[in-house]
Amino acid sequence: MEEIRPDADGVTLSINGKENVCVRYVVDVGGFRSSVADQMKLREGARAMQSFTRSIFTHMVGVKEYEDVIAATQETGSPTHIAQSTLHHLFDCGWLWIIPFDNHPHTTNPLCSVGLQLRIDKHGPAGDSEAEFRDFLAHHPSVARHFEGAARVREWTVAPRINYNSRETTGDRYCLLGHAAGFVDPLFSRGLANTFESINRLAPEILHAARLDRWQKEGFAAYEHYSLKVVETNDRLVANSYSAFKTFPLWNAWFRVWLSGSYIGVLRLRRILANYLESRDEEQLEAAFDTATYPGTLSVESHRFESLFDAASTAMEALEAGMAGEQETVDVLHRLFADARGHLPLDFSDFANHFISRSTHEFTASLLEWGQYGAGRP
Ligand SMILES: Cc1cc2nc3c(=O)[nH]c(=O)nc-3n(C[C@H](O)[C@H](O)[C@H](O)COP(=O)(O)OP(=O)(O)OC[C@H]3O[C@@H](n4cnc5c(N)ncnc54)[C@H](O)[C@@H]3O)c2cc1C
Repeated sequence: MEEIRPDADGVTLSINGKENVCVRYVVDVGGFRSSVADQMKLREGARAMQSFTRSIFTHMVGVKEYEDVIAATQETGSPTHIAQSTLHHLFDCGWLWIIPFDNHPHTTNPLCSVGLQLRIDKHGPAGDSEAEFRDFLAHHPSVARHFEGAARVREWTVAPRINYNSRETTGDRYCLLGHAAGFVDPLFSRGLANTFESINRLAPEILHAARLDRWQKEGFAAYEHYSLKVVETNDRLVANSYSAFKTFPLWNAWFRVWLSGSYIGVLRLRRILANYLESRDEEQLEAAFDTATYPGTLSVESHRFESLFDAASTAMEALEAGMAGEQETVDVLHRLFADARGHLPLDFSDFANHFISRSTHEFTASLLEWGQYGAGRP
């Protein structure tokens, strides 16, 4: 698509320089190379991003499992088989993912996805990816054991800076969706969930606009607010995570912020689904999504969590700015979780417990209760 010309009657799209297509509205899902963002210069003047990271990633075969090379040599205490999920190795201002696609007995795919993410101000700009990866392994011998005998089966993909966003995500007769609106970092794997939620929020606004045949920006204000907020929230979450990677006590404190908010967001969706399965009322279902108190945030609905998120982020940002020490920051986070006890679905204040997803009776009971009543639980 070369050119997009919105006017009062519709949008004319010029494709391959010859074919003109006229439509009433354009939803651009073109990702980083979004034509609409490019032509409308929507990346210019966007909010400055906090995350400053780059990525190299590839596919390999013969990557050894965590259980065979690391858990075999030390007591990890993990209640789950870590090689069955996305494995993150964290280090100062960076992380490595190892995602085996042969993680269950019926798989036919021998590939393993491997990706290295680095904060640019700490690790410098992208260079020779293979040399960089080998150098990383030389400095992290326990991680290197995964890769003894492994072979890369395609070139490295290089993202010299992976974070970007947009000044606006809607305009008269167009909007940006998913990666076209912005991207932060694959750290929390929130991309696909965000895309689904974006579709869910945008679709009713498009249907409404179609009924009225009114396609002005104002009709998409709620979607725009949501889509900008999603990137802003993820940006703050990710930037502070890279700061927390520096030491185990920091990460042990900070990752509870992510997990705590994510649980609330997921439980909200489960409640909406459970209510719908009981009532089969589509209007009620649509209204349930509209009632988000904090659209685009992690919890979506919990005032208590959102204030914890803000306070914890502020503490991490003070640490990053050199205005607070590590122990002081961990103490602030610990206090926040201790104060939140009883107000969030799960108690994350026991920092000695490193496996907080362990299924206990209290854990399940607390989730069920929040799942039923949400932020307004008795
Ligand atoms: C390294 C990495 C790891 C990730 N890991 C995860 C994960 O584990 N879990 C998760 O949920 N999410 C993950 N994500 C995020 C996830 O990939 C994205 O959220 C998702 O791909 C967004 O989908 P999208 O359709 O908006 O954009 P994209 O997937 O970027 O798709 C955009 C498409 O538009 C095409 N296109 C662009 N311009 C044009 C044009 N002019 N004409 C025709 N086609 C065009 C592009 O070629 C591309 O195929 C990851 C992202 C990255 C970068």
